[in-house]
Amino acid sequence: MNLKVLGCAGGIGGRERLTTCLWLDDDILLDAGTGLASLGMEQLVKIDHVFLTHSHLDHIAGLALLADAILGKKVGPVTIHATEEVIATLKNHFFNWLIWPDFTTIPTADNPVLCWEPMQRGVTLDLEGRLITANPVNHAVDAVSYWVRNQDAGFLFTGDMAATPALWEKMKGEAKLAKVIVDCSFTNADSDLAAVSGHFCPQSLIDDIQTMPHSTDFLIYHLKPGQEEVIMQELRTDARGRSFEALKCGDHFVF
Ligand SMILES: [Zn+2]
Ligand SMILES: [Zn+2]
Repeated sequence: MNLKVLGCAGGIGGRERLTTCLWLDDDILLDAGTGLASLGMEQLVKIDHVFLTHSHLDHIAGLALLADAILGKKVGPVTIHATEEVIATLKNHFFNWLIWPDFTTIPTADNPVLCWEPMQRGVTLDLEGRLITANPVNHAVDAVSYWVRNQDAGFLFTGDMAATPALWEKMKGEAKLAKVIVDCSFTNADSDLAAVSGHFCPQSLIDDIQTMPHSTDFLIYHLKPGQEEVIMQELRTDARGRSFEALKCGDHFVF
């Protein structure tokens, strides 16, 4: 599996300019933030699946524009995988003909640009040997992480999250887990803000992952613009034997 980072910022105006979008092989996206805009038409029409962690705008903004871009240029719909709660939110508040057209009925309901596929928590989907499991995480809205692996190795993409001990309990024994891409949006000084908005700060992240093996790499995403250096410094100061790296737009990993 090839994983390329198209966007990983917690907002615009910072060191990383594009919001969350991870590109797996040619055909799968994990979240569809503004990072999606860096793909050309030839690449956009190859996308067959989009997995959404949750409904917040910085993770879905690119989805609306993707639908418009590929209309009439692609055979068959793009399947949007998300929990039933997230799908309901997007139907009611986004693809509602007011914010954006309902691309599950365009050009026709029989041959649409997008289709919805409810993702059951804890159930694994097998897309040609790429196994993808959604596990719930705590955030300000309904949210899941994605555990993605092949027969050799894999990664966990947490999406936006705050403390969720059950997730690490589930993941700590996974021998194939090589990397975790995890939210750490705020500095320790903003720990109240982190808690109320359902994100990690360095202290709460380090406390939550205590049971995870030290051999797992933690790659930090969703850093708030302007706070990147402080957050990474705070993580490294209290690392307790772990290595933390900031995820960067353009990073490429092979599993
Ligand atoms: Zn969010
Ligand atoms: Zn976000």
